[in-house]
Amino acid sequence: MNAPSRLSPALLEQLSTIVGEQRVKTDDDSLKTWGVDWTKHYEPRPSAIVFPASTEEVQAIVKLANEHQVAVTPSGGRTGLSAGAVAANGEIVISLDRMNKVLSFLHADRLVHIQAGVVTEQLQQYAEQQGLYYPVDFAAAGSSQMGGNIGTNAGGIKVIHYGMTREWVLGLTVVTGKGDVLHLNKGMIKNATGYALHQLFIGSEGTLGIVTEAEIKLTRQPQDLKVLVLSVPDFAAVMPILHAFQQRIDLTAFEFFNQIALEKVLAHGHASRPFDTESPLYVLLEFEGRFEAVVDDAMQIFEHCMEQGWILDGVMSQSQAQAEALWHLREGISETIAPFTPYKNDISVLITHVPAFIAEIDAIVAANYPDFEVCWFGHIGDGNLHLNILKPADLSKDEFFEKCKVVNQFVFETVQKYNGSISAEHGVGMTKKDYLHYTRDTVEIQYMRELKKVFDPNGIMNPGKVFDL
Ligand SMILES: Cc1cc2nc3c(=O)[nH]c(=O)nc-3n(C[C@H](O)[C@H](O)[C@H](O)COP(=O)(O)OP(=O)(O)OC[C@H]3O[C@@H](n4cnc5c(N)ncnc54)[C@H](O)[C@@H]3O)c2cc1C
Repeated sequence: MNAPSRLSPALLEQLSTIVGEQRVKTDDDSLKTWGVDWTKHYEPRPSAIVFPASTEEVQAIVKLANEHQVAVTPSGGRTGLSAGAVAANGEIVISLDRMNKVLSFLHADRLVHIQAGVVTEQLQQYAEQQGLYYPVDFAAAGSSQMGGNIGTNAGGIKVIHYGMTREWVLGLTVVTGKGDVLHLNKGMIKNATGYALHQLFIGSEGTLGIVTEAEIKLTRQPQDLKVLVLSVPDFAAVMPILHAFQQRIDLTAFEFFNQIALEKVLAHGHASRPFDTESPLYVLLEFEGRFEAVVDDAMQIFEHCMEQGWILDGVMSQSQAQAEALWHLREGISETIAPFTPYKNDISVLITHVPAFIAEIDAIVAANYPDFEVCWFGHIGDGNLHLNILKPADLSKDEFFEKCKVVNQFVFETVQKYNGSISAEHGVGMTKKDYLHYTRDTVEIQYMRELKKVFDPNGIMNPGKVFDL
């Protein structure tokens, strides 16, 4: 039986008037489905899920929430890895699922105007139909929404060349926590008229307002992408390989993963070993091979790295299908290890510090997790490591997370020592909130709190995420 909603019948009635009766859900299944993201740390406990179809409907809901002092949580594709979209405290979840339309396209500007519920892959396909490219890409592109990507400033596998979501957003329509509608920057490349407020909303994890529409820049399609997977003897060899290739070639990706990660993906099926040589680490790199000379360069660099002992073996894709199969070895990791309830860290430092940083983190991991399986992977070309500790089957979730939290302190102290980030691209949400001070100092966090008050004076927008008021 479904429990009665914690919202008053009058408020539920008003929500129904705004979006339609069928678009307000309070049944247990819906509350569980739309009350969570990919994290499994918190129990979902929203009061209701609403599905608006327009900016005006979102605005009306936010105004109502202000009148009734009820918190709201914006919800995209719910693939987030930091519990930013989790509604654990009776919030009204505002799902953007119905706001999934491409509104217009300006060819000369290469500018597409979309609703925030457009799925990442949908935008990528739309760009392709225009002969263009939307380059922010990652394993959750099939479900994540552009509103969610903007909420977290998503990165992914092409950041080394194309940058984060922030680089591609030229305009936003937002409903602030106060209930005002703002049309920010309106797609312009050049606009020197004061604060770039649209940038403030990017990465704000729904704490300032709700993004309802966005103007997104597209670019030319990359051509003849070549993918190399290399086996590497140790962490010390990874960055010299990056520098050797980057000296002569513009890389579109430079990723790494360890042997455990590879074995998990292979065991999951639909993937084959790239070559026979096993090694502790693997690097995947990608570049545009549209000129013979570039491919020749890559081969020469490969041979140089072999001579130096940085590479033990390697393979280069000879077709699109092979390139996709090689990418799957890296892209399949998150999904493959999800059943092991991994404890995830998403940390970053400047490229300069990567070798020393990795050596220290590796020592912490070896000393503290001798009995746990540890999956290393990530966007190492951006200085971004994903450190995933896998839960042993015989340990309860709570016991496991408690053990991991103890080690977090050592990991984050090392991040702080190198002026790095405790969350490179997944956001802070609830899972990293207690550690924010390792990356942002007290005064800076206070400025963020003050900013929130400007856009959300009643504190109804996704409270308890990023920081507490
Ligand atoms: C297999 C897998 C691989 C991943 N790989 C990567 C990766 O390589 N790089 C990376 O950056 N991330 C990665 N992620 C994390 C995740 O996919 C991204 O954070 C993504 O951008 C989240 O989008 P979403 O629509 O699912 O957002 P949600 O999880 O629904 O929400 C994320 C945050 O944004 C807020 N939000 C959602 N919609 C709006 C809106 N319209 N307005 C304002 N705020 C909003 C939410 O309240 C929440 O705080 C991965 C996740 C998975 C499951």
